[in-house]
Amino acid sequence: MSQRVAIIGAGPCGLSQLVAFSSAGDSVPEQVCFEKQDDWGGLWNYTWRTGIDEHGEPVHGSMYRYLWSNGPKECLEFADYSFDEHFGQPIPSFPPREPLADYIFGRAKKHDLRGVMQLQHVVRDVSWSDSANKFSVTVDDLAKERRRTEDFDYVVVATGHFSIPNVPYFKGMERFPGRVLHGHDFREAREFSGQNVLIVGASYSAEDIGLQIHKYGAKSVTLCWRTQPMDFKWPEGMDERQLLTEIKGSTIHFKDGSAKDFDAIVLCTGYKHNFPFLADDLKLKTHNRLYPPKLYKSMFWHNNPRLIYLGMQDQFYTFSMFDAQAWYARDVMLGRIKLPSKDEMAADIDAWVAREEKLEDPYQQIDFQADYIRDLVKDTDYPKFDIDLTVAAFKEWEHDKMDSIVGYRNKAFKSPVTGTMAPTHHTQWLEAMDDSMAAFLEAGRA
Ligand code: FAD
Ligand code: NAP
Ligand code: MG
Repeated sequence: MSQRVAIIGAGPCGLSQLVAFSSAGDSVPEQVCFEKQDDWGGLWNYTWRTGIDEHGEPVHGSMYRYLWSNGPKECLEFADYSFDEHFGQPIPSFPPREPLADYIFGRAKKHDLRGVMQLQHVVRDVSWSDSANKFSVTVDDLAKERRRTEDFDYVVVATGHFSIPNVPYFKGMERFPGRVLHGHDFREAREFSGQNVLIVGASYSAEDIGLQIHKYGAKSVTLCWRTQPMDFKWPEGMDERQLLTEIKGSTIHFKDGSAKDFDAIVLCTGYKHNFPFLADDLKLKTHNRLYPPKLYKSMFWHNNPRLIYLGMQDQFYTFSMFDAQAWYARDVMLGRIKLPSKDEMAADIDAWVAREEKLEDPYQQIDFQADYIRDLVKDTDYPKFDIDLTVAAFKEWEHDKMDSIVGYRNKAFKSPVTGTMAPTHHTQWLEAMDDSMAAFLEAGRA
């Protein structure tokens, strides 16, 4: 077969696509994976860098030191590569970043994916030619400082959407005497020990970065919300207020009329979908939501389904959902699944988007994303896993977080792939200061 597929990004989504092809069993198209960083892993490939990297490119990484999974690992487990297979022993349900990265890399190594990787290659331009019936992809080899253009039959966009920060302005910011940073540039919580820190935002980053800064010795952490508070039972030293209104020197005023002095501000105000390399008529424009419009099956660009986006939705599920997508996308590219007419695709998109817009709470959102996965895996040979069990786990996790925001990571869940029950971790999360893989895997401690 002479078809060529460009996969942009070697994070979890790009790797899922490559593993799907590697598992296809018969003749597959030629694949080239362009990754701008010097290794695979996407956000899981931790970098100390912030701002601009050694090549003058925006740093992709948004992960920070001491990051632990915020959902049970059982809800993201690959159905074809269990945690038991990778670690050779059962491990607790909420691993830190390093063992989770090791798990992702383990499957990539098993499938020997290095051969199709073009590391330190940033994609600059993708356009479609009707006459050639192909995409033209322009890439910069960052190490050699050389540009080239190649043709492809399919383009898979797997560049993630939690990398370009959304940075709002608040009155008086320019005169605030302390650090102001976005969560994208947050790396080391100890920087804030002894300080009074304001966190802006009311979602996963705000919650987790706030807790992290608290855990590593801040004097106080105040979170502030725009639409809705998180309303967790915050530990002593943390509180939640309505949004700030104005900054006067180091004093920050809030909508509820209160004011407090701060040493630093961390904006946990989310990210922007950003595709500077895509021609305008190919570019997805959306906020962070469970079913971005104009994508059939949440993947195929309606106006040109040879352009495939992976992982562009907001995420309860991650790695297993990316696999479900990648297997489906693979089967479309292989001709095993035929896409319906343009009108049928549009009607299907509209139905999902309409359902998403009616969702009322996280429990319904979890059901929605699980149904989306079910809809994909029913048509492919992605190995069976117990999706109902993951739904139950996510719902229990939501309860656990309301019960104890510092304690939910001490819980254990059952694998939807092997049925293994996770052990509880040897140290409670709030006391576990060492997040290394070695410390995490040390059995029978404490
Ligand atoms: P990414 O991991 O972002 O990878 C995209 C890749 O594309 C990167 O390697 C990037 O360098 C590359 N790229 C971008 N542009 C170009 C270009 N023009 N040319 C070439 N390469 C390019 N999920 C969980 O399941 N559990 C967690 O605990 C968890 N924690 C998170 C914590 C933080 C702070 C954030 C921001 C996200 C977290 N996530 C977590 C969610 C995360 O989105 C997924 O786990 C996963 O990383 C998404 O994979 P991806 O491949 O879509 O994107
Ligand atoms: P997000 O879920 O998109 O949330 C963005 C937040 O910013 C919302 O609360 C939003 O409030 C707020 N916001 C945006 N603009 C604002 C403004 N002008 N003023 C005030 N508030 C504003 O983004 P995120 O929290 O960064 O999470 C991104 C991803 O990272 C998630 O998938 C999450 O799971 C992951 N993550 C994981 C971990 C971990 O595993 N340990 C840690 C951090 C992040 P409104 O509701 O008012 O719009
Ligand atoms: Mg990727």
